[in-house]
Amino acid sequence: MRRALRLRVESALGSAAVGRMARYRIRGKRLILAYHGIVPEGAPSAGERSLFVSQRDFAAHLDVVTEIGDVVALDALDAPGNGRPRVAITFDDAYRGAVNEGVQELARRGLPATIFVAPGRLSDHVFWWDALSNGGAALDDAIRHHALHGLGGSDERVRAWATRIRLPSSDAVPAYAQTATPAELRAALDFAGITVGSHSWSHANLAALSALDIATELERSRDWLDAAFGERAIPWLAYPYGLDSEETHRAAAKAGYAGALRIGGGWHRAIDVPRLARPRLNVPGSLTVAGFRARLLGVMQP
Ligand SMILES: [Zn+2]
Repeated sequence: MRRALRLRVESALGSAAVGRMARYRIRGKRLILAYHGIVPEGAPSAGERSLFVSQRDFAAHLDVVTEIGDVVALDALDAPGNGRPRVAITFDDAYRGAVNEGVQELARRGLPATIFVAPGRLSDHVFWWDALSNGGAALDDAIRHHALHGLGGSDERVRAWATRIRLPSSDAVPAYAQTATPAELRAALDFAGITVGSHSWSHANLAALSALDIATELERSRDWLDAAFGERAIPWLAYPYGLDSEETHRAAAKAGYAGALRIGGGWHRAIDVPRLARPRLNVPGSLTVAGFRARLLGVMQP
């Protein structure tokens, strides 16, 4: 859809009459939002743009969400509600901007959220997709497909391949687009309602690994988070790249995860979806606030 037309449609869909209808449809349902990075006020854009939402837009999203439903902790999402829609907020990857500025916006409003951490990639790590985007490589479908499925989403393997075929790449991204340190995560956990979950150990494509390697990725990450953050580490998993398989579901169950999240999908009832393949609504950086509101009201499919 052309941008101007899309904006008009989005704003019409946010109107009062449509809003009432939509609210009826989402009554009593659950929604898990998937964010990645947050760009602090005034900072330049960097990395894979679609993964970064501006701090200002994120703050506006929180106002929209709290108006439409109740924001609850992820591990309380399925508790019986009062009929109002219930929404959990999640961040993947532990980007510094999300851990600092994102959590500040939540704390200001007293809202809970869960940060999904790949412990093997903490402390100033630049993810391969951000390095390639930042270097000017167009992350088209062919590159992405080979990186995720041919190279298992492994940072080391993708970077080695990119060097070999001379894809432009740059690790010179602003601090907000690098990963946070354990100390920064600990500071975020000072705020009531902020928790961490597992995003595997190394952010591999779990669906491309052997059963033994999946188990190692899930158990090592779980053990590290438990040791570092105690009860603020909840037994929930977000599949890296949103990619899962029957094998990953089995491994997640065996490793003791209570829930595991994909990327894609939206409002649901817990009884209608597999516990270890729950849908999430991904929030891309390009989405307008009106578009976000329309998606939340369930009137536009993600
Ligand atoms: Zn991720």
